[in-house]
Amino acid sequence: MKKLWHITHSCGHKAERDLSDRAADRRAGFAEWLANRECTDCWRAARTTDEQDKAAWLEARRAEEQAESDAWSAQYRMPPLEGTVRAVAWGVRCRHQILADAYTGLVLEGETSEAQWEVIEETALSRLAAQHDEIQRLRNDPAPEDAGNVRPLASVSSKTAPFGSCS
Ligand SMILES: [Zn+2]
Repeated sequence: MKKLWHITHSCGHKAERDLSDRAADRRAGFAEWLANRECTDCWRAARTTDEQDKAAWLEARRAEEQAESDAWSAQYRMPPLEGTVRAVAWGVRCRHQILADAYTGLVLEGETSEAQWEVIEETALSRLAAQHDEIQRLRNDPAPEDAGNVRPLASVSSKTAPFGSCS
């Protein structure tokens, strides 16, 4: 019974595979399946490069989003978020992303006019500002029953965000 198979992979590399751990009647089929794929080295090399590219791309994209969000927050004079550096960065991105997504969905892809959008945006922004004021108030003068419930603004606004959640 044939155990060693000479396989020419799709990348052109040849490999000798011991298929004795496969059922005898499955070996030919498995050899064919292998031949339609890259060899292990090529597969691994492609994958490593992709993963590195992906990580670099994600990092660049994250920095780009952060810069956009910071600029947006300054433009609309959004109240500063409080918390750890990481939480604040996330909160600023999240706040911007939610409104940007809402704009895309409602105005660019939906039926909402620019004028209607301005009202929606105004409402959302004033709600965020009101939330911030409320949290400041609770921080400065917590009623006994509220004292345990004060959370950093970043997590509060993600929970009560008007248009759903963001990543
Ligand atoms: Zn190869």
